[in-house]
Amino acid sequence: MGLFREAGKKFEETKRSFTGGDGDEYVCRACEKRLTERYEHCPHCGEAAVEPAA
Ligand SMILES: [Zn+2]
Repeated sequence: MGLFREAGKKFEETKRSFTGGDGDEYVCRACEKRLTERYEHCPHCGEAAVEPAA
């Protein structure tokens, strides 16, 4: 049973490295929420104000 969990954990780590570390790569200028993807419109406030965090 432990094997399954290890595989899942590894997958999560791989996924994280693909999205770049902690995953907070974008930020909405309107509501200042951090986002993991570059949305066309912010999923929180709906403004088209999403920009790269760095
Ligand atoms: Zn927003």
